[in-house]
Amino acid sequence: MSHTHDADCIFCKIVAGQIPSRKVYEDEELYAFHDIAPWAPVHFLIVPKTHIASMAQLGSEHERLMGRIMLLAPRLALEQGCKPYPEGGFRVVVNTGAEGGQEVPHLHVHVMGGPRPWARG
Ligand code: AMP
Repeated sequence: MSHTHDADCIFCKIVAGQIPSRKVYEDEELYAFHDIAPWAPVHFLIVPKTHIASMAQLGSEHERLMGRIMLLAPRLALEQGCKPYPEGGFRVVVNTGAEGGQEVPHLHVHVMGGPRPWARG
């Protein structure tokens, strides 16, 4: 499977192994790794291997890919030590654009969990 690679993109470099990361999961089209500055006891990112700048660039051709990410999140959260629903659980965040708080312009899904308190709300 071929992926769009942006040579200036830090997460494309992580996917390509050009920048080290702590891998959580990998398959042909997805890569998950621990966030370098975690906000929660469990905090990892799931990214498509292909370069998509943000959720704002998604089209109908990405339905299956995004569905796979959403199904992967609960499975990996449990594997990474989040307790099961409903006592445990996790939070999913996708920052999009400057006003959405996005710093890295490669679509990524934050998965955060573990014993609280660790976040607002
Ligand atoms: P966002 O603000 O949603 O764009 O989040 C970007 C996230 O990427 C932040 O939580 C950073 O801590 C994380 N991050 C940036 N560089 C790296 C890296 N090299 N390895 C792992 N996580 C990173």
